[in-house]
Amino acid sequence: MPSVFLAEALLPDGWAPNVRLVIEGGLIADVQLGAAAGPNDQGHAVGFPGLPNLHSHAFQRGMAGLSEVRGPAADSFWTWREVMYRFLSAMTPDDVEAVTAQAYVEMLEGGFTRVGEFHYLHHAPNGRPYAEPSEMAQRVAAAAAASGIGLTLLPVFYAHGGFGGLPPAPGQRRFVNGLDGFARLLDASRGVVSGLPGATLGVAPHSLRAVTPEELAAVAGLLPGGPVHIHVAEQTREVEDCLAWSGARPVAWLLDHAPVDGRWCPIHATHMTPDETARLAATGAVAGLCPTTEANLGDGIFPGVDWLGAKGGYGVGTDSNVSTDAAGELRQLEYAQRLGQRGRNLLAGEAGGSTGRALFDAALAGGAAALGAGPAGLRAGATADFLTLRTSHPNLVHRGGDRLLDGWIFGAGRGAVDGVWVRGRRLVVDGRHVSRDAVAVRYAETMRRLIAA
Ligand SMILES: [Zn+2]
Repeated sequence: MPSVFLAEALLPDGWAPNVRLVIEGGLIADVQLGAAAGPNDQGHAVGFPGLPNLHSHAFQRGMAGLSEVRGPAADSFWTWREVMYRFLSAMTPDDVEAVTAQAYVEMLEGGFTRVGEFHYLHHAPNGRPYAEPSEMAQRVAAAAAASGIGLTLLPVFYAHGGFGGLPPAPGQRRFVNGLDGFARLLDASRGVVSGLPGATLGVAPHSLRAVTPEELAAVAGLLPGGPVHIHVAEQTREVEDCLAWSGARPVAWLLDHAPVDGRWCPIHATHMTPDETARLAATGAVAGLCPTTEANLGDGIFPGVDWLGAKGGYGVGTDSNVSTDAAGELRQLEYAQRLGQRGRNLLAGEAGGSTGRALFDAALAGGAAALGAGPAGLRAGATADFLTLRTSHPNLVHRGGDRLLDGWIFGAGRGAVDGVWVRGRRLVVDGRHVSRDAVAVRYAETMRRLIAA
């Protein structure tokens, strides 16, 4: 049985010295405390669990940095979305697989060990379904297999172009299914995840813009016990449109009309009143925060301090994949709160608590719950997903315990990630994914064509 010796490790109860992780069949079979390194152990200075990335649209990795040019009118989420629709209009299944593999390799190098793929690019460029409804889902799974990242596949139900069941726009034709077509896609997706070790399945009604109330109820009920992810209240215009349609704000509408509970992961939930914040937190839903993308798109600032005060759970996602750094998402989450509230250490919890540790613990527990990933953390029975840091990094040298997390999150970022293991397989060595070069070559070839298109 392979085992890894960690001179210092973050366990569910806190930091511990001299920890040996015994790995069997992709799981942690045993956590030995106060241990000595075995003769065949891989030894590392410091290790802790890998983080779940609970919200990704992997194909958007290819357009990172391509929408940063000022347009003729005021730029916004909605003008960015037009660029995104143009970008994806030419993507073939091969292209999606190549770009997704690149995104997943980068996520692993950035400290993420599982990804929730909010997967809505289902059909051919002309909007016709592929002969196999899960063609694109298979490409996502192939990219996950090539990279080794854990996958929670979230097939997206998308039917309308606006509140009240408006017809979809031409740019949305690759996403659109009726309920029957979606049921077929979900069935086919079961086969896709069953072929990938550790993969799980959820459902994702895209947003209140893209589904009717009847469709939302039907889709949320398709996978009893499984994760339900939905974009909600990302944009102020979405709030205004929802008010015009229903008289209620998006989060309030969702709480009044859907059985929101711990299975649910509302993505963004940026624009909430204090009452919506308290009510949503009380359901046990995990807020799916995407701090870098939300900043890039100018969405607004999540009410993090109120959410924490209401004991709300959260996780982080890389969403548009303009950045794929676990530490960077946690840093941006705290920084947005600081800028909005003109204070420091706002998400740390109690006095004396490390901000980095609080962010890490919340994102680990919330992300694992939102992705249906089983028990999180370095404990017997959990998936052997963890990473080690290079403690010679200038931000980490001569530090221990929570100061390492603070140094990683607020200073070093991905530059300090040394090794990353998923299901006991070491995928990142000295900060480099073992397949980085081959994946990057294929990605570059794909981008040569897409950028010329
Ligand atoms: Zn999204």
